[in-house]
Amino acid sequence: MNIAVLPSSPETAPQIADPLDHLADKLFHPMGSDGVYARTALYEGVVERLAALITSHRETGTEVMRFPPVMSRAQLEKSGYLKSFPNLLGCVCGLHGTEREINAAVSRFDAGGDWTSSLSPADLVLSPAACYPVYPIAASRGPLPKGGLRFDVAADCFRREPSKHLDRLQSFRMREYVCIGTPDDVADFRERWMVRAQAIARDLGLTFRVDYASDPFFGRVGQMKAVSQKQQQLKFELLIPLRSEEQPTACMSFNYHREHFGTTWGIQDTNGEPAHTGCVAFGMDRLAVAMFHTHGTDLPAWPAKVREIMGMQPLATADAHGEGWR
Ligand code: 5GP
Ligand code: ZN
Repeated sequence: MNIAVLPSSPETAPQIADPLDHLADKLFHPMGSDGVYARTALYEGVVERLAALITSHRETGTEVMRFPPVMSRAQLEKSGYLKSFPNLLGCVCGLHGTEREINAAVSRFDAGGDWTSSLSPADLVLSPAACYPVYPIAASRGPLPKGGLRFDVAADCFRREPSKHLDRLQSFRMREYVCIGTPDDVADFRERWMVRAQAIARDLGLTFRVDYASDPFFGRVGQMKAVSQKQQQLKFELLIPLRSEEQPTACMSFNYHREHFGTTWGIQDTNGEPAHTGCVAFGMDRLAVAMFHTHGTDLPAWPAKVREIMGMQPLATADAHGEGWR
């Protein structure tokens, strides 16, 4: 259950201000739960322009799919998510009983009691990443063509990590390019995107570095998985120092899943081997927060080159120096 945020009382110890907090009023409206926010027009405009910029870099032959914020629970279970991140998963629950049982739950609530004890899980989970639903769809198409398949996917994602930090949302937008093919297809794809994504970040005027990374695998066994993931260089992240150099924020990730999804879903490459897969993920909300953190909330004051790359109108060219894009 989400817990409503209570206004801080005078007794509460003063919190150390986070370097991103000053952006909150301009970008978000609170919705009563940490990490779940309504977005302002200013913020959403930048998210849309970032999405368009990423679209402009889409490779030819890439199939576009947009997913809802929920996906099949059975498919996520089969993908092995519970083995790695059970603590982050959000599951859809409903009142599935008889009319009498449902009314009893509502009556309990009306009497100040707990209605949620009558909930039972539905066949849906909240999607924790945008690419999970694409693998079973690809599998249904039979063996891969030469060169493999590439997809452009996006979804509102959920991870149960309540936080007051504006770069750690529970509900956030993820855009991904996905490659399903031979090991070489996927290695080439990831190489290309690691170069291209850094060019995009540079164009956006962002300060960043790319480094090996590991996913936040759950528990003690998870720590071993994280070490192995780093050793095998299966994940890289584009890191932006939003709150500090020491603890930068991952705004994009470049992932190689080896044959995990190919084996799970029975996808075969042109050689009859289990397909390999990889994805490049863009955290749309983190990128937008990074843009405001870097360039401020006054869009006309953003660097001319950045405005241009974002497709923003040139400012009045009446400028005596004829600078145009300001
Ligand atoms: P990954 O699957 O690599 O953990 O996530 C892909 C991308 O989604 C990350 O690089 C990041 O940009 C974004 N992302 C992951 N977790 C969060 C989060 O808690 N909040 C926000 N706003 N974005 C996230
Ligand atoms: Zn992915």
